[in-house]
Amino acid sequence: MDKLRIGTAGIPDSTKPRSTANAVKRLAELGLRHMEIEFVRGVRMGEDTAREIRALAEKHDISLTVHAPYYVNLNSAEPEKITASMDRIIQAARAGAWAGATSVTFHAAYYHDDDPEVVYGRVKHCMEEMLERLGKEGIAIRLSPETTGGPSQFGTLEELVRLGVDVPGVYPCVDFSHLFARSLGEFNTYEHFSGALGLIRDNLGEQALKEQHIHLSGIEYGPKGEKRHLPLEETELKYGDVLQALVDYEVGGWLTCESPILEEDALILQGLYNELKST
Ligand SMILES: [Zn+2]
Repeated sequence: MDKLRIGTAGIPDSTKPRSTANAVKRLAELGLRHMEIEFVRGVRMGEDTAREIRALAEKHDISLTVHAPYYVNLNSAEPEKITASMDRIIQAARAGAWAGATSVTFHAAYYHDDDPEVVYGRVKHCMEEMLERLGKEGIAIRLSPETTGGPSQFGTLEELVRLGVDVPGVYPCVDFSHLFARSLGEFNTYEHFSGALGLIRDNLGEQALKEQHIHLSGIEYGPKGEKRHLPLEETELKYGDVLQALVDYEVGGWLTCESPILEEDALILQGLYNELKST
C-alpha cells in the first residue's frame, strides 16, 4: 500500500448529510485515504465528537491532519494577540490529537516591517513554548507551520526547514501551490519540486519525507502572491511534476487537496499518483 495518502481539505462536497463523521465514510467510498479537518474559522469540536471521528477514521482507514484557525500571527505587535494565536494552535492540536490526527498546520506569522531574522526568532520562541505546553498536556501531534503563499507572510521553505532543525518536533508543511504563488510562478519545475524535497531530506533526515504533511491544489497568483485556489484544470502549476517528485523521493505522509472542487481534484491527484507510481 502506498505510504502517501491523498484526500480533501475538509468535508467532501458529496457528503450527505454534511458532517465530519459522514465525511470519513464518504472518503472511503470515493477511494481517498486522508482528510484535513478544517478548524480555519475556529475550533468547535468537542472531545466526544473527536473521539467518535477517531474510531470511524480507524475503521475506514482514513488518516487525519488538522488546519488551525487562520487568525494566527506569532509576530503581532500586541503580545495578547500572540498569546491568543498560540492558544488557537493549541486548541486545534488538542482536538486533533483527540481525533487521532498526526499533524497540525497553520500560517505562523506576518513579517510586517520587521527584519525576517527577528521574526524567525520570535516564531521559534513561540514554537518552543507551544511544544512545552503540548508536552505538559501529553498531546502528541506534530506542529507543522505551512509554507505561505505571499511575500508578506513568514514561511519560506528555508525558514521552516531551519525551524525544524532548531526546534525538534516542528516539521514543515509543504504547500507546493503556495511556493509557486509566492515565487510569482517561478517555482514550477521538477527541479524546484525535487529540490524542496532534497532540502528537507538533507536537513531533517529521510524519515521526515516518510511522514510529510503536504498541500497541493490549483492556484492563481497576482503581484502579491496567492490570490485564490483554482481547480487543477485551470492552474499553471505543474502538479504532475510535483507528484513525480513525490514518487521519485518516495515521499510518504498526508497530501491535502485544497481545491474549490475538493474530491474531484483529489481523485485526479490520486489517479495520476497511482499511474506514476506504477510506471
Ligand atoms: Zn493553509
